Amino acid sequence: MHNETDGNTRTCGLIGHPLGHTLSPKIHNMLAEMTGTNLVYVPFDVQPERIADVLPGAQALNLLGMNVTIPYKNAVIPFLSSIDPLAEKIGAVNTLVREENGKGFRGYNTDMTGLYRSLEQEGIGLAGEAVILLGAGGVARAVACLCAMKGAKHIYLLNRTLEKAKTVADEINAAEGKECVIPMQLEDYPGLPEVPGKYLCIQCTNVGMYPNEKAAVIEDPEFYRHIHTGVDLVYRPLKTKFLKLAEAAGARTFSGLKMLLYQAVEAFELWNHVNISTEQADEVYEAIYGELQAHMNLVLIGFMGSGKTTVSQILAEKLAYHCMDSDADIERQQKMKISQIFADRGETAFRELETESLRKLAEQKPGRIILSAGGGLALKEENRALMRQFGKVIYLKTSPQTVYERVKGDQTRPLLQGDDLIGRIERLEAEREIFYQMAADEVVVTDGKTPEEVADEILTITHLR
Ligand code: NAP
Repeated sequence: MHNETDGNTRTCGLIGHPLGHTLSPKIHNMLAEMTGTNLVYVPFDVQPERIADVLPGAQALNLLGMNVTIPYKNAVIPFLSSIDPLAEKIGAVNTLVREENGKGFRGYNTDMTGLYRSLEQEGIGLAGEAVILLGAGGVARAVACLCAMKGAKHIYLLNRTLEKAKTVADEINAAEGKECVIPMQLEDYPGLPEVPGKYLCIQCTNVGMYPNEKAAVIEDPEFYRHIHTGVDLVYRPLKTKFLKLAEAAGARTFSGLKMLLYQAVEAFELWNHVNISTEQADEVYEAIYGELQAHMNLVLIGFMGSGKTTVSQILAEKLAYHCMDSDADIERQQKMKISQIFADRGETAFRELETESLRKLAEQKPGRIILSAGGGLALKEENRALMRQFGKVIYLKTSPQTVYERVKGDQTRPLLQGDDLIGRIERLEAEREIFYQMAADEVVVTDGKTPEEVADEILTITHLR
């Protein structure tokens, strides 16, 4: 959180279930800081049986506003004091704004207005366009509404469940008074008519979302030769298989991250009666883009013998990630063993090599890496910042006794040579504990657990499974 809070701080938040990792607090807290707004934004994971309590509770706590995500975009509607006509037309709300008289909340749909603003930003027009929408869920319905209202010429709505596509098409066509939305079974895509100038295709299903990123809702490369622009509303990963296939066929491609940003910008503007400039939005975009990239990587830290190497290999296998070991990397670059670097050049020189190599990684930021970090890396403040810039940092916490059992007899570790091994492990661990805690996003205790169990725990807490 960026802001200072005081007695006048207003609170906004996100309701949904489960929330998992959300970028919304980062976006809104950054916007608050940039605009000098005394506001904090926090996530509220609401259990389904408590949804009726949310709005009265928010009213009692004097919350300024809320965002709403899956599965409550329709469920909150009966509890609103009023609803914006556009949101009513779409049948879903994602933003609640406290009424001027303080009594209740008015519902808006900024998914739709945010998408429109993001398309405009990217120079994608809708008037007169031939559009293919993949999916007929909550978001596809809002997008189909937007396309119809903005004068798209044809809107082919392709869905796995044809009935859903038909219902959405009938409702929008009735509301618009024209037959502009044409429902189709997803697998009938080869029957789409040829159009001059090809199609704009907007991917509105959740297929291809992390961690099932190897899938695209249509896998056939031939389909993509008929589109000039592909927009995927999924933004995790940033480059989905749908976008890769569209790019390979020569189409322009855009992820859903700008839509996420602009639905938040529109909500922030509604709550605070401010205008967010393109420059301000761009600055937030850079930050969330960087965060998405960073969070694709994992960094395992901990004392020697904590299982970093074994656990990172298991995780790499499960996630199809690439393993890196900071010590092995230095040995490879310097063409000599760590013990030799210590003996020839001393520990200080080795620590500088460590920082240098970490800085390169943080700058280049390759994706899908699990970095097993040398035991001493977290001791330097600069390294701690670089590690967090590079990825999510997990501290594998292991007791001195367990470490002793795992490393005794290992002649390759310079810090373990000499008498009273257990005593030295205890002292070193005690010295380093505070630094590991400061560096870590998450802590996993490894005592009494197999490497598989530790890897499973990491997958759960990082929401990577
Ligand atoms: P939803 O209401 O649950 O709809 C899901 C859609 O995906 C349905 O059309 C469903 O088809 C289809 N689908 C799911 N699995 C499929 C499969 N294996 N094969 C073919 N089709 C499949 O979800 P939603 O709220 O519309 O959200 C859809 C996506 O939009 C999500 O990935 C979400 O992250 C993204 N989104 C992005 C933003 C943003 O700001 N960028 C905002 C909101 C949502 P059936 O009808 O046949 O089940």
